[in-house]
Amino acid sequence: MGENLGRLRERLADISRLREAGAVLGWDRQTYMPPAGAASRAAQLSTIERMAHELFIDDVTGELLEAARAELNGAAPESDDASLVRVTTRDYENDRKLPPTFVREMTEHSVLAQQIWIEARENNDFRTFMPALAGTIDLARRMADYLGYEGEMYDALLDVFEPGMKTERVAALFAELKSELVPLVAAIAERSDRVDDAVLHQSFDERLQEEFGTMMAEKFGFDFQRGRLDRTVHPFAVGFTRNDVRITTRFDPNFLTSSLFSTLHEAGHGMYEQGIGASLEGTPLAHGTSLGVHESQSRLWENIVGRSLDTWQHFYPLLQETFPQLDDIDLQTFYGAINRVYPSLIRVEADEVTYNLHIMLRFEMERELLAGAYPLAEAPEVWNEKMRSYFGVTPPNDTQGILQDVHWSGGMMGYFPTYTIGTVLSAQLFDAARRAYPTIPEEMRAGEFGNLHGWLTENIYQHGSKFQPEELIVRATGEPLQTRSYIGYLKTKFGDLYGLAG
Ligand code: ZN
Repeated sequence: MGENLGRLRERLADISRLREAGAVLGWDRQTYMPPAGAASRAAQLSTIERMAHELFIDDVTGELLEAARAELNGAAPESDDASLVRVTTRDYENDRKLPPTFVREMTEHSVLAQQIWIEARENNDFRTFMPALAGTIDLARRMADYLGYEGEMYDALLDVFEPGMKTERVAALFAELKSELVPLVAAIAERSDRVDDAVLHQSFDERLQEEFGTMMAEKFGFDFQRGRLDRTVHPFAVGFTRNDVRITTRFDPNFLTSSLFSTLHEAGHGMYEQGIGASLEGTPLAHGTSLGVHESQSRLWENIVGRSLDTWQHFYPLLQETFPQLDDIDLQTFYGAINRVYPSLIRVEADEVTYNLHIMLRFEMERELLAGAYPLAEAPEVWNEKMRSYFGVTPPNDTQGILQDVHWSGGMMGYFPTYTIGTVLSAQLFDAARRAYPTIPEEMRAGEFGNLHGWLTENIYQHGSKFQPEELIVRATGEPLQTRSYIGYLKTKFGDLYGLAG
């Protein structure tokens, strides 16, 4: 390694360690910290983040990048060193575009706006949230201006969460999904009585729920020697390093699968972080490449694997042993229950079929809000009208409508599409893995996931953020992101479950 490459790596390792320490404090804040610790913790986190940020955007980093680039001597683009210089340069240039005063303003806004949002949601009062939302929109517009964009303003915001993705492309994905999903939702609605999930709403011991979820996550490939599971109100996953990955879940003693599937979802995120190549540790490459690719992993393990008939052929007898109240319920009934389609008003409770329509609604509204397409006061009615046309239901109030998500109060616009990108990608990746290992469904029926996990490690996890999402997807599957796999998956699975012809 050249001298300057070595110095660059040392500097980036310092910055990584600061951020890892910040992540530990952030994890603790959401799991074990007593409430009174909030103020000092916020101060600790902001000091650490400020130090990391200042070190990173300092001219010294830029000079080291420049000097390190000269030492690459034609190293292959996918080599660790060339990737490090390329990806870090992109991050460095982007971060330097945002003035520190603007970054501080964003942080302060999100703290304040979230407080206002919590109260507005509780009181079902959109009017009190309006100024905060106006602030978020203003900041998003200014951020896009700082970052720069060629086509639409939304491109700049999207790129923060999904590098390289364009608004036009997302709009095309949604158009394809919409034309297939809206009729599918309507056809299922006519046959909603074919599937019932009452069996899941009984009393289930929390400790046993935890043991079962842990056992399944471990079978899938989550390594508890390099990770752990804790409890939070809002489940999440965070990787400090590949050897220390934390996931969280919440338990509902009267609903079996809310904890189970959130555990499997977060385990999917966790396995991605655990699978990142050891040589990338201590660099900006040591995490997943985008929110969308990250979400493809949580969705693949939670839904495509976790809610499949194949997987439950192995696990259902074990579940019945753990919970004798399921003794009289056959596998097919259970499988239907965990896959019931229901036009929920709430995104986070949505099933696989309706989920992306929730995201499409938010994507459309974000673009409209940025463009100032209507007065803010009319936004709740726009929301409700879209709910009617996509789902056939109308929210009875704004708490269950436009006020339900935290994102807009946190100043985050351009984030939502990554959920759908991940969902669509999950099916494309699973198809590619099955082409490489046609025995995967058989293995799932035997409770074995090694080939699937191995394929994902080889093609996705180990690369960290060496490659931008599109390049990674093409390398792994041989083609760019497409909706064909996902639409095919939904039509087959839910066509069977709901007895839809064709
Ligand atoms: Zn997720």
